[in-house]
Amino acid sequence: MGETLSYHCPRCGKTHLISYGWFFRSPATAEQVMNGEYGPRAKRNLERHPGTNVMFEYLIFRCSCGHARSKEVMTVFDDERAPWDRDPRRKPVWDNARCSCPRCGKRMHITENIPRSIICTCGARTEQALCECLFD
Ligand SMILES: [Zn+2]
Ligand SMILES: [Zn+2]
Repeated sequence: MGETLSYHCPRCGKTHLISYGWFFRSPATAEQVMNGEYGPRAKRNLERHPGTNVMFEYLIFRCSCGHARSKEVMTVFDDERAPWDRDPRRKPVWDNARCSCPRCGKRMHITENIPRSIICTCGARTEQALCECLFD
């Protein structure tokens, strides 16, 4: 239910992988959260809302400097519905959808648009994205 793209930099040779889309986790996820693998805040929320649903997705973050990356984002919902139910009235009680730019340190913003190319950490523009793989 998602795709991974690779962006090759002709100057420094680095390849940047960007993924987007949501994916399933095994039922062991709640257990991992309770073990603290997703940090103390996620654990506290799951303790407070035991029926909570958890969604995992890759989101694309873009920086004003032209760099982009993706991050595995976990969202915790305070109800029993399926994680992929995109009802806009649904309120997440917790998520980790924040990251800063590895190139310039600024706060990055979520984008729905898949970048055709990005600015590499070395400052050069990468080649156009190639589809690396599909995952579910
Ligand atoms: Zn580069
Ligand atoms: Zn930046």
